[in-house]
Amino acid sequence: MDRIEQRIIAIIDQNKEKIISFGRDIYTHAELGYKEFRTAAKFAGVLKELNLQTEEGLAITGVKGYLKGGRQEVSLALIGELDALKIPSHPFANSETGAAHCCGHNVQLTGVVGAALALSNPEIAAALGGEVIFFAVPAEEYGEIEFKNQLKEEGKIRYGGGKCELIRLGAFDDVDLAIVNHSGEDGISIGSGSSNGFVSKVVRYSGREAHAAAAPEKGINALNAASLGLAALAFQRETFRDQDAVRVHPIVTKGGNLVNVVPNEVVIETLVRARNVEAILDAEKKTDRAFKAGAQAIGAAIEIATMPGYLPRLPQPASTILIEAAREAAPQAVIHEADPASHKTSSTDVGDLEHVLPVLGFYTGGVAGGAHTDKFAIVDEEAAYIITAKIFALAAYKLLRDNAAKARELTGQYRPKYTREQYIDFMEDLIRTENKNYKDE
Ligand SMILES: [Zn+2]
Ligand SMILES: [Zn+2]
Repeated sequence: MDRIEQRIIAIIDQNKEKIISFGRDIYTHAELGYKEFRTAAKFAGVLKELNLQTEEGLAITGVKGYLKGGRQEVSLALIGELDALKIPSHPFANSETGAAHCCGHNVQLTGVVGAALALSNPEIAAALGGEVIFFAVPAEEYGEIEFKNQLKEEGKIRYGGGKCELIRLGAFDDVDLAIVNHSGEDGISIGSGSSNGFVSKVVRYSGREAHAAAAPEKGINALNAASLGLAALAFQRETFRDQDAVRVHPIVTKGGNLVNVVPNEVVIETLVRARNVEAILDAEKKTDRAFKAGAQAIGAAIEIATMPGYLPRLPQPASTILIEAAREAAPQAVIHEADPASHKTSSTDVGDLEHVLPVLGFYTGGVAGGAHTDKFAIVDEEAAYIITAKIFALAAYKLLRDNAAKARELTGQYRPKYTREQYIDFMEDLIRTENKNYKDE
């Protein structure tokens, strides 16, 4: 380690309590996507204390803080996600919203904060041959689709995913490369394989109210239509090829109003995921057909609102810069290198980002209990918050020292899959709302 790297480690160690208490605060005040106002304000607050120029309200809650290095031809973003999940049974769930950090996004956000504390030290900042952007991004978990569609109707967003929306808005236009992090139960791991992408659907069945016991024959039961739609979807599953890793997992968000009234409105949200765009399009066509079949059989009306979700992740071999940073940040730890041929059936809008700019990714540990469950817990704050902050900061320095030589090498090698305009065209093509009314048939 050189002197600057030793300083980075020392500053983060000196600020350990401050960093951990930021992490705990966010952990115990979770907020859902595009509603992360408190979290965003806390993040911006730290950056302002460091006298960094900030930009707020990007895609509703996104925050960017700029640290100007020596020469600024290269701009590196350290990215932390703001949002949580709705898991009301988690011990730290918000009692009103049910929001809980069961994916550990508070850890990556805290890692970025810790890195900002170290890198903004004048001596360290002077050694950076480029700009660092501390970037808090909204809405990675793709839930509450109806709420997101409503924001879209109001013209506040266009896409459900925070990074997707930020790409559309041009908030990544001044970013040349980015580092992302996520918590994982396997400890420190660098790089990643591919992942599923998806589209989202809100399916609304409309029937007709009637007395559920006295005159059900006068009603049109939207719940029956929805049940049939779900059954039809289940019959499609044998046509999904194993190699496409299709996942279609609907929930019913509205099942009726009162038990003695025939349900006249039932709403289903679903994601349709697969490992490539062709398979997503095939599965979503079958999903639409299945849901329509339920409406047709019962004689209900159906509206299917389709929105683009996330692109599949591109395989990412372990970055040598991140391996080096991880070894220095956690000399005792075993550092895993991800197999680029591995595949995750979950999704992330990091995939979208990888299509437009170079992204380096690493996982850190300190969590247990299972992501997206109410048993999820941060069990080692040092491993979660402090190690993450150190890896972010050390990697940033390694990329930007010597006039940003390594960063330039990476941006020089990178070939984007999409320009911003091409990306927007791809996303816009997926947006549609289809209505079918079988009430009079
Ligand atoms: Zn998650
Ligand atoms: Zn996550």
